[in-house]
Amino acid sequence: MASSEPVRGSGSITFSNGQTYPVTKPDKWPTRDPILRLYSLPELDSAGYLNLPDAHIEDIRPYALAAGERDDGSSSSSSDDSLRAPSFESSSGSSDISTWEDTLHPVLRYDRWILSKEDFVSLRPALQLVSCILEEPSITPFFIGLRQDPLPTLENEEAKALFGGQQLYKFEPHINQDPEIYRADQIKIWKFLAKDMGKLVNWRFGRNSNSSYATTSVLTTVPGPIPGKTYGSMISLDNLYLRAIKGEATDEEMPWREDLDTQSMRLRTQFHLASAMLHELAHAVGYATMRRTVKEYQTWNPRPAEPFFQDQRITELGFALTQFIFGGIPVPNGPPKELWCHYGLHMRDFPGPLNMKPRGDKVFQYKTPEDVGVKEDWHYAVTMAYVQKMFTAKFWDHDLRQGDPNSLLRYQRTDYRAWIIKSPPKDTAGESDSRSWSRWMVGSLRDYCARLFQVSR
Ligand SMILES: [Zn+2]
Repeated sequence: MASSEPVRGSGSITFSNGQTYPVTKPDKWPTRDPILRLYSLPELDSAGYLNLPDAHIEDIRPYALAAGERDDGSSSSSSDDSLRAPSFESSSGSSDISTWEDTLHPVLRYDRWILSKEDFVSLRPALQLVSCILEEPSITPFFIGLRQDPLPTLENEEAKALFGGQQLYKFEPHINQDPEIYRADQIKIWKFLAKDMGKLVNWRFGRNSNSSYATTSVLTTVPGPIPGKTYGSMISLDNLYLRAIKGEATDEEMPWREDLDTQSMRLRTQFHLASAMLHELAHAVGYATMRRTVKEYQTWNPRPAEPFFQDQRITELGFALTQFIFGGIPVPNGPPKELWCHYGLHMRDFPGPLNMKPRGDKVFQYKTPEDVGVKEDWHYAVTMAYVQKMFTAKFWDHDLRQGDPNSLLRYQRTDYRAWIIKSPPKDTAGESDSRSWSRWMVGSLRDYCARLFQVSR
């Protein structure tokens, strides 16, 4: 009888075609990943989740180039082919960024980075994707809502007490019913993101803790639009992204190198990096808009809380934004921080059953998943077609202009999915998310037991 204990990889993996492959480093085998436990790599591959035969990256650029620099909101660039760099491939690899840097959103340009030009060039696909998304009109309601002044307050005494008595705020995606006012709101946001945020955000790569892809710190020495109350930020992305993109993974980190298409993997890594950058940018916008004094940042415990988005019980602007854009949180299949994205990606809902208990001086949630009756966490495998389209000019120049941007940007839930049931509640205060997640049991609507043991012992 199959048990629900995690399967431990200890030497080999048998695929559904009967072939057995050695695992170079058993403790790296993602035994806890429900998608990988339920579906073999060949099965995921044949269903279009891993190796795309013609995986490629095109030169894409924002719908309306440098929106913050134009006043009338007209789109000037996407129809002008003369502004296009010759092709992505021809200019990648060269450290000459002058031919394409001005196609990036100002918040992403080279002067915002502590990074070599060579490394900056390698990030170009992710930089262009983030630029496109920041100027995508369907995204602006999130930022318009976040910049409402004043923000609606969250009136919940229990929550206030939990957050040290501070006033809590909330916001909704905001669309003014008057098209002219809404248009003006949009232009204000594009200008804010380009002109204000373009001076406030700094980027670098560094080593992050085991559970985080990236972090954003407030720079209280850098004044934001309201001096003394708003600030700049330093965003630190995990070094692993850079090593993955530059192909510096070791054999141990890539046990199935020959079976996986490198170009498809890089596409996924660039996509995941773009999602991490958007996540951190949301925190940076928080620091540039929340009105808190330096003293409050230095002395408050818990720290000043970000506004709550919609009816989410967790305050986390980063996840709130990526959920809003993509319809889920993109996560690499496999072990934590598998930023090479060897084994594909899946999406999870935020907040879902995520339990974000207080850590240090941080508080995130004011209700637990149990409080709101959430017990299951669905993981949906992300098709390569979805990832690929994000890096094609046709998607940004044509498809998105013809169809409903929301449904085109958001991934489609697929049959390749798995759910996790949370284990009985236990006091886990202070425990990291990844540890409490590891206690969850894995299940699936499909033939769970049979598939589980395709991962051999
Ligand atoms: Zn975050």
